[in-house]
Amino acid sequence: MSDKLKIGFYWCAACGGCEISVLDIDEMILDVVELADIVFWPCAMDPKYEDLRAMEDGSIDVIFINGSIRSTENEEMVKLLREKSKKVVAYGSCSSIGGLFGLGNLYSKEELLEYGYNTPSTEEGGVIPAENSKVPEGELHLPPLLHHVRSLDEIIEVDIYLPGCPPLPNQLKEGLPLILEGKVGKYDLVSQKSVCDECPLEREEKKIPRLYPIQEMMLDPERCILDQGVLCMGPATAGMCEAPCPSVGHPCIGCNGPVRGVKDQGARMASALASVLGVEGEERMEESEIIDVVKSVRDPTGSFYRFSLPKSYLRYKRRDIHG
Ligand code: SF4
Ligand code: SF4
Ligand code: SF4
Repeated sequence: MSDKLKIGFYWCAACGGCEISVLDIDEMILDVVELADIVFWPCAMDPKYEDLRAMEDGSIDVIFINGSIRSTENEEMVKLLREKSKKVVAYGSCSSIGGLFGLGNLYSKEELLEYGYNTPSTEEGGVIPAENSKVPEGELHLPPLLHHVRSLDEIIEVDIYLPGCPPLPNQLKEGLPLILEGKVGKYDLVSQKSVCDECPLEREEKKIPRLYPIQEMMLDPERCILDQGVLCMGPATAGMCEAPCPSVGHPCIGCNGPVRGVKDQGARMASALASVLGVEGEERMEESEIIDVVKSVRDPTGSFYRFSLPKSYLRYKRRDIHG
């Protein structure tokens, strides 16, 4: 019997980008195959639920789980995978911090279903999520949605976090061997440095009067984007990606989530912006000036928490709902 490691991949509520990213490591995939056998990968191998249930507990050495937890099926599967696996890696930002789909937490499940499924393509005979786990006999439904999106660690214990949307080849080339050789701790792959620390554009930390939409600006590609008055999430975002977005003139949108040790990416960004916009010296400003400055931050929740709402202090809008 092979003495290689046994690894697996699983996607929950995901876009597919994380699954594809595994292939972005080019020839390094050969090193992975040298070290490990892939024993579970629904995207590529089409195993059935029964196949997983039949595996011995702890028989997968490392399972890489991507995607948010959105449905009862996601919840059930990750609990099962936790039993079958020695180590669980939260792969990608959806899994680590809730991800893009976490913005659904600004609405109730009922509002989302109404908006997303009441469309011409679902009016007649469309397959929609069941309202609860009791799917009527003979009817085809998608698994029921949970009331809000969760990160993986709200459901099961996570051993290693590897955020990114998706994790980039440089992160994988550094992180994958360490994970497979068991040389990495829970948060070791989450940078303590921010994107600003890795950004080639130098920040002068100038005070700016307000923020401007990027489409209204002719940005100087040599200067810090935030210094020029356009929102860039670099100060509040973990920097293990090596800042590819600001390097080509696009603001960081925060996809890695917060730097290691910071719980709330949005709060960190609000604090950074308060300083840049001069709101910290608000006692010297007219009330109308403060209101103008604050209004110039468009869609603060969607911008500050684009990838991390389920893992933030806010988590979801309707605190009266559980499930
Ligand atoms: S982290 Fe990004 S790439 Fe990965 S599943 Fe989520 S949205 Fe897709
Ligand atoms: S462009 Fe963005 S990431 Fe780069 S230094 Fe400025 S704020 Fe930081
Ligand atoms: S610069 Fe920001 S948006 Fe771009 S990959 Fe890095 S964390 Fe993500």
